[in-house]
Amino acid sequence: MRSIRRGDSGPAVAEIRSILVGLELLSEDGSDVFDDATDHAVRAFQQSRGIGVDGLVGDETWGALDAARWRLGARTLFHSVPNALVGEDVRTLQERLLEMGYDTGRADSIYGPRTARAVAQFQREVGLTQDGSCGPQTMKALRRLGRKVVGGRPQWLREAEAFRQAGTNLMGKTIVIDPGHGGGDDLGVVVPEGPLRWTEADLVFDLAARLEGRLAAAGMRVHLTRGPHPAQSMNGAERATLANSLGADLLISLHLDGHENDAAHGVATYHYGTGNGLSSTVGERLANLVQREIVVRTGMRDCRIHSKTWELLRLTRMPAVRVDLGYLTSPTDRDRLVNPLFREQIVEAILAAVQRMYYPVEIDVPTGSIDVRQLRVALGAGS
Ligand SMILES: [Zn+2]
Repeated sequence: MRSIRRGDSGPAVAEIRSILVGLELLSEDGSDVFDDATDHAVRAFQQSRGIGVDGLVGDETWGALDAARWRLGARTLFHSVPNALVGEDVRTLQERLLEMGYDTGRADSIYGPRTARAVAQFQREVGLTQDGSCGPQTMKALRRLGRKVVGGRPQWLREAEAFRQAGTNLMGKTIVIDPGHGGGDDLGVVVPEGPLRWTEADLVFDLAARLEGRLAAAGMRVHLTRGPHPAQSMNGAERATLANSLGADLLISLHLDGHENDAAHGVATYHYGTGNGLSSTVGERLANLVQREIVVRTGMRDCRIHSKTWELLRLTRMPAVRVDLGYLTSPTDRDRLVNPLFREQIVEAILAAVQRMYYPVEIDVPTGSIDVRQLRVALGAGS
């Protein structure tokens, strides 16, 4: 769908405005015009949800706005089949349960079987009927206990434990490499340079294909989320669903950044996290390793790691990171990125990071020190 933006008007804008009013980001004036105040409110909303802040209401922002209509306690929540209930109220409930030590999986806003089980467990422990649904009685019990009982970050400890139990051998592990964009007219960042035109979609595909070869040679099962010229574009949720259906052990999404100021440059890596203390520890570790290996091996500027709730990171069930491998709009970064030898350096850095994910922490090695040609030997010895 075309993004709704500043200057638009009509029933869809009225609907967006009424949701923003409900969230207290905008004051009600009965207008159906996407004015400056609406633009500010949309940006504030995007920022609060970890969505790219551009003031445009496209698919992802619309989905988040739609889900945000629901405030916890406004309706009874239950595990509905086949169409699960989705909403901000579900996410609030999941975060509250997670804080108390119940295993709902990630706070993904979806009331699935795992959330229902966590609710039933909570109900049993506070002496309520265990029906796995969240109605007035359960809400009352949650309000009574919610702020007092905090159990740490159990779901991430479980995720870390599951990862540890999968073993230290890279052989046979499944990794999904997600080259961003591609398909339809989604080329990501595009920069013309003389007769040439550099596109994010093509460059990250080249990186993904190189990485695929190297990871496969190391014994991993590797899947790319797309080919070089896909007919259709895919959103973050579709990419996450694909990785989940493959039962992937890790996911790495590759992007380049762009900025109107061509002085902006450097590499940044993103992992799942809500910014209020809930974050994927395994995903954060992977993000750290990827970021540090790239910075140390290539000398690119370190724009650090950040937590985000983007669909790709939120809906994937395995440790997942997205790395923005420099700014295509920066002459410094671009000169290097268009050089295949430099791209090979990036591939080596990511390969080393993946290898270090499977090293037991006590025998981990300094950043930049792994000779990836020895990968297979080292991994054989570690298994
Ligand atoms: Zn991108």
